[in-house]
Amino acid sequence: AHLARIEAVDEKVHAFLHVDREGALAQARAVDEKRERGEELGPLAGVPLALKDIFTTKGIPTTVGSKILEGWIPPYDATVTQRLRDADVIILGKTNMDEFAMGSSTENSAFGPTGNPWDLTRIPGGSGGGSSASLASFQAPLAIGTDTGGSIRQPAAVTGTVGVKPTYGGVSRYGMVAFSSSLDQGGPCARTVLDAALLHEVIAGHDPMDSTSIDEPVPAVVEAARNGSVRGMRIGVVKEFAGEGYQAGVMQRFNESVELLRELGAEIEEISCPSFDKALAAYYLIAPSECSSNLARFDAMRYGLRVGDDGTKSAEEVTALTRAEGFGAEVKRRVMLGTYALSSGYYDAYYGSAQKVRTLIKRDFEKAFERVDVLISPTTPTTAFPIGERADDPMAMYLADLCTIPTNLAGNAAMSLPCGLAPEDGLPVGLQIIAPAMADDRLYKVGAAVE
Ligand code: GLN
Repeated sequence: AHLARIEAVDEKVHAFLHVDREGALAQARAVDEKRERGEELGPLAGVPLALKDIFTTKGIPTTVGSKILEGWIPPYDATVTQRLRDADVIILGKTNMDEFAMGSSTENSAFGPTGNPWDLTRIPGGSGGGSSASLASFQAPLAIGTDTGGSIRQPAAVTGTVGVKPTYGGVSRYGMVAFSSSLDQGGPCARTVLDAALLHEVIAGHDPMDSTSIDEPVPAVVEAARNGSVRGMRIGVVKEFAGEGYQAGVMQRFNESVELLRELGAEIEEISCPSFDKALAAYYLIAPSECSSNLARFDAMRYGLRVGDDGTKSAEEVTALTRAEGFGAEVKRRVMLGTYALSSGYYDAYYGSAQKVRTLIKRDFEKAFERVDVLISPTTPTTAFPIGERADDPMAMYLADLCTIPTNLAGNAAMSLPCGLAPEDGLPVGLQIIAPAMADDRLYKVGAAVE
């Protein structure tokens, strides 16, 4: 049924870069046979899923939304891919994304944008717009995203779906193509809080293949999602995430959510996090710096595209020609920015200062979580904007992640879930819930209570 739905609507939505029809049907048959043999089935047996094209899939193309990986077929599965297979999930295909997960609209994909199922002329968010659009257009009931600065939560917000950025280290990064390694985190996307929890539990947990993976029990997210409640909970409203630049309808729905939480028995308190207004600036030094280093591996020798290899050019020339053709404008902008920020003489002024801001943001969270159990804010300042509107204005594009970035810098957990439609445009608004590190279960407890 889901493959038929993809066939019927994905020409318009363009959520998928690759649909693995044969593989999905083979997996489905294998699950059926297992059942017939009376074997124990995985926890998500037979449930179809859309996988962001940043996770390696053995024998299935993985492009990361870039031309530079053209023709590359990974020889191995990412840990997330492997865990999905072990849970008997049916992987329908690979979803569209901004190139190397750099963007907030999926317009930076080398393979064309994805439409927002609520209005195909608008963006579905990014970088994981393909995953969120696949959910909102009912092409898949579950999807996987990655969140470096908001790429799970912002697409969830603008498509009316649920997305969770787990605690950094909660879900393995092995086989997840690296953008900014100290920020990148894979996580679940779904249409309900409980669905997200069921998926979270399958993909999370320690992995010796990822040196930053946390070796502790996975927070009890499913139990929390089944027992939603905020009675007696202390909830902080982030004071800095309001005011200029926030759409009226977004604030209206957010304020209604605050009232609902109060009615359900939560104690609401306004919390100031004074360093959060510097998060965007710090992020746009740290993320490009790490990306300039991570993307050095795309040298035309190891993977995918190779341009100008005609026997007359040096390896350096082939590398330069390949990178010039294989990378898009946003990726090049970030590699240049990052290389500059890391260069000797500038390192302390840029990268060093950004790391200090990161510490201040961590301290803001620590102080906040001494007083409250979770923090809340709008996920993103506006609803889905029209395709093309911010494409030539990187600064305007970067603002979409204003409220999501502090969590990545500090490494704690956050969720976006729908909280109604903005009256002025009828488009979905996202409520963000932020929890301390390894308290991911609180997101689900609160999310399930207000869903
Ligand atoms: N939009 C942000 C960026 O462009 C975040 C992307 C992400 O979370 N992968 O970097």
